[in-house]
Amino acid sequence: MPDMPQSTLAAALLGWYAAAARQMPWRGQSDPYKIWISEIMLQQTRVEAATGYYLRFIAELPDAAALAAVPEDRLLKLWEGLGYYSRARNLRRAAQVIVGQYGGSLPKTARELLQLPGVGEYTAGAVASIAYGERVAAVDGNVLRVMTRVLDDDGDITRPDTRRRIAQAVLREQPADRPGDFNQALMELGALVCLPQRPQCGDCPLSGMCKAYAAGRPAALPVKKAQAPRKTEQRTVFVLCAGGSAALQKRPPRGLLAGLWEFPACAGHLSREQALRQAREWGLEPQSAEPLPGYRHVFTHREWDMRGFLVAAERPGGAFEWVGWDRLRRDMALPSALQGFERTAFQILSREKRSNHQ
Ligand code: SF4
Repeated sequence: MPDMPQSTLAAALLGWYAAAARQMPWRGQSDPYKIWISEIMLQQTRVEAATGYYLRFIAELPDAAALAAVPEDRLLKLWEGLGYYSRARNLRRAAQVIVGQYGGSLPKTARELLQLPGVGEYTAGAVASIAYGERVAAVDGNVLRVMTRVLDDDGDITRPDTRRRIAQAVLREQPADRPGDFNQALMELGALVCLPQRPQCGDCPLSGMCKAYAAGRPAALPVKKAQAPRKTEQRTVFVLCAGGSAALQKRPPRGLLAGLWEFPACAGHLSREQALRQAREWGLEPQSAEPLPGYRHVFTHREWDMRGFLVAAERPGGAFEWVGWDRLRRDMALPSALQGFERTAFQILSREKRSNHQ
């Protein structure tokens, strides 16, 4: 694959970036801690959604020392709704390494950053290039899309050799004096112009040198091996209530949603009678079981198809943590998958409380 003239692509891209880059609270600064936090958040959510999380996170945990010392429950509460909670835990573990081994400042090379828990090639490249000006690629999904199109490369992007080839192409084009801007500009072009289904080639600064555009097939790239279909699991979720408290349990320390609080649940879709029986098996004396609206939640490899019951019990019991509703809503990190049940149950209980007082 012949190289393109280096200066042409970089100049066109950086010129466009200077005019089109969106304002973001983590842009235009070189604090590696803030860049690191923003990059981890952006791996799982869109810029608009990440901004609020980022500002709250940085206000409470402004540096690695604060992050290293934060209690896990508080950390997960700050992360609540972002998903992929292992990333939050890895952030804290990495912060502890940064404090223990690097005196509280992030290490200064991509190679050292890669040694931190939860930091992969992309994050190491992004932090090192943006914060420290190191010449290193930062290849995320946006960059893969832009570069496979510019190069008309139909390699499978789930394969390491394709990703390596794209990283090398990025490095060849990257100007020595602005590696961070160049990496960010590629990502921004992928986010705003070189869109997955409808690339805006007419507005693209790279259209004159884009081989997929010339070949009339941008939307056919990148090539990605089909993933195995997601498994759907039916579940019944119990919002068990007694005397102003609700029952929670902690998920196992490994696996999906590891260590998060959740409402008790069991496999399958239970009828009301089965739900009451289940509550009794947990050692409760249920008074009623009111069906809640169902929710679906899609994870990376599986999908939960959930029904729910609001079960009123005579008194707290069973092997659960009983938590007052105020504390539950303020301090406990519930997975997004269960927040719909929490909201609906809370509304029903508040309504009942109001009508009892009238
Ligand atoms: S010309 Fe089209 S396909 Fe090529 S990089 Fe620009 S937007 Fe993407």
